[in-house]
Order: sequence, then structure tokens, then C-alpha cells
Amino acid sequence: MASSSLKGKVAIVTGSTSGIGLAIAYAFAAEGCNVMLNGFGPADAIAKEREGMAAKHGVRVEYNGADMSKPAEIAALVAETNAKLGSVDILVNNAGIQHVAPIESFPAAKWDAIIAINLSATFHGIQAALPLMKAKKWGRIINIASTHGLVASAQKVAYVAAKHGIVGLTKVVGMECADTGVTCNAICPGWVLTPLVQMQIDARAKEQGISSEQAARNLIAEKQPQLQFTTTEQIAGLALFLASDTASNMQGTQLVSDGGWTAQ
Ligand code: NAD
Repeated sequence: MASSSLKGKVAIVTGSTSGIGLAIAYAFAAEGCNVMLNGFGPADAIAKEREGMAAKHGVRVEYNGADMSKPAEIAALVAETNAKLGSVDILVNNAGIQHVAPIESFPAAKWDAIIAINLSATFHGIQAALPLMKAKKWGRIINIASTHGLVASAQKVAYVAAKHGIVGLTKVVGMECADTGVTCNAICPGWVLTPLVQMQIDARAKEQGISSEQAARNLIAEKQPQLQFTTTEQIAGLALFLASDTASNMQGTQLVSDGGWTAQ
């Protein structure tokens, strides 16, 4: 969806060295946004991605390796973006991790990490970036929640709690942004085949003694009548839509792309 109004805007996409975040970063770069990448990974691979994205789309692309579990590093990510690319227009809160275990054996450290990265980082990022957006009377905050922000699955206590938190946080920030030119909305994907999900597929394949392909088919069939993974590009398209003028009256709400998961 081409939207010339995004040309020259400054976008931070957290967790954009992989999966959904990387696709969103590419999508904003393709619209002419200057992009701040963030996330973990080998330095040479990240540098290659950054340079490739900048060259392909003729935009500026920077990288900041802030650990999203650390509030001071999140504030520094926003400050560095401001210094290197200009005042933040679009903040995509995407970084996330998963851990699957029943609550009795769920490691407390995993609970703390998931709440910090999947939920609290969004609070800290918005707190740092919102004043910059309000000053310009334009901004887009896009929070990557999940179907697990709307419904639960067993063995995902921290993830489901964090994602429900994101949906609630999005509503509050949306209310507080009303009439400011800034919108805050969430995207709730169902299964998207990224490293985060591949890890779960591989663990199931091993546990059940089946192939990864069969484990992937079973995983989808359990939840999604449409039997297709949502693609990273489809989620990126929804992010572009939320940043577009067409979505300027969407506030504090969610876009769901889950192959029918939550329609049941
Ligand atoms: P992914 O594992 O491919 O990417 C996660 C990204 O987050 C990577 O860039 C990683 O380096 C980064 N990251 C992890 N911990 C970090 C930290 N402490 N600080 C900074 N960056 C960190 O996963 P994905 O599937 O692309 O997930 C992206 C988001 O989408 C997550 O919030 C996830 O919960 C959400 N989501 C994914 C799916 C799915 O099916 N894949 C479904 C719904 C929601």
C-alpha cells in the first residue's frame, strides 16, 4: 500500500533483526521512512541487513542494540534515533520472546524476562517517544500483540499475560492520545512462521517423534481453521495500514490476522 505521506518519517522497530520486525522495517523503508533497527544477532549479519535495506530503498537505516529488558537502554534507543535520524514519528513495539511450560515448572526468571521484554518495554518505549510525537502533532504507535492478547493457550502463562497486558496498555494509551494526532493500536497475529514459532514446532516434533513439517501442520490445525500461517509481509502490511491516513481514526484498538483462530 503506497502512502507517500510516510516518506521521510522516522520509524523505530524493536526486535527487527528477525521475523515480523524485520519485515515491518523493510515495509517502512520501502515507503521512504528512515528506520532504526534493533534486536540481537551477529554483528556482520545485522550490518549487511542495514546496508542492504538502506541501499535498496534509498533511506537511512541505523541500528541500536538496546536490550529491551533494560529501561535505560530503551530510553537511549529513542535518544539515539532522535540524534541520528530525527524525531521519532513511528514506534513499532515488536521485540518478543516465548517460553512454554506449565505454571508449576515455569521458571520465575522466564516470567520476569517475558514480562520485561514483551510488556514493560512497550511502556518504556512509549514513555520516551510519545512526547516527541505529541510535539509534532503526529505519531503512530503500533504494538505487536498476539491472538494470545485475546485468548489463552495452556503452558504460556507469561506470554499470554504479557500480550493481554499489551492489548490493555494499547487501549489506555489510545485514550490518552485522543485528539493529539498520535494513534496507538495493536496487531494480533495468529501463527506466523518465524524463528519464535519454529522453535515451538521443533520442540513438539522432538517430543512426539514426528517430522517438523507434520508438527507445523498439527500446530496450525489446532488453532486456525484457515490452515495457513500468516506471513510476515501480511503483518507488515497491517503496520503500514495503521500508519496510513486511512487509519487515523483508529485509536486504542486491535487488528487481528489469525486464520479464524479467535472467530471460533
Ligand atoms: P523472532 O524470534 O523472529 O524475532 C524476535 C525479535 O526480537 C528478534 O529480532 C530478537 O533479536 C528480538 N529480541 C528478543 N529479545 C530481545 C531483547 N531483550 N531486546 C531486543 N530485542 C530482542 O520472533 P517473531 O515471531 O518475529 O516475533 C515478533 C513479535 O511478534 C513478538 O512480540 C511476538 O510475540 C509477536 N508474535 C509472533 C507470532 C508468531 O506466530 N510468530 C504471533 C503473534 C505475535
